[in-house]
Amino acid sequence: MEIVVDSDRCTGHGRCYTLAPDVYEPDDDGYCQEQVAPVPLELKDRALLGAANCPEDAITVTGDD
Ligand code: SF4
Repeated sequence: MEIVVDSDRCTGHGRCYTLAPDVYEPDDDGYCQEQVAPVPLELKDRALLGAANCPEDAITVTGDD
């Protein structure tokens, strides 16, 4: 499972890394960056939670494993 964060869409709300800090983390300016790549299966739900709560729809999660 892979995560792609569209840096052109991310505005730094921080919902992703607040809800799922084990998958997403802020960079020095508060924009999202992936914490783990690829995402292990045990963090799948956290990755999807962060993506679903991004108000800018900036996170794409691909793959089933
Ligand atoms: S929730 Fe979306 S807009 Fe906010 S930091 Fe995460 S990726 Fe960026």
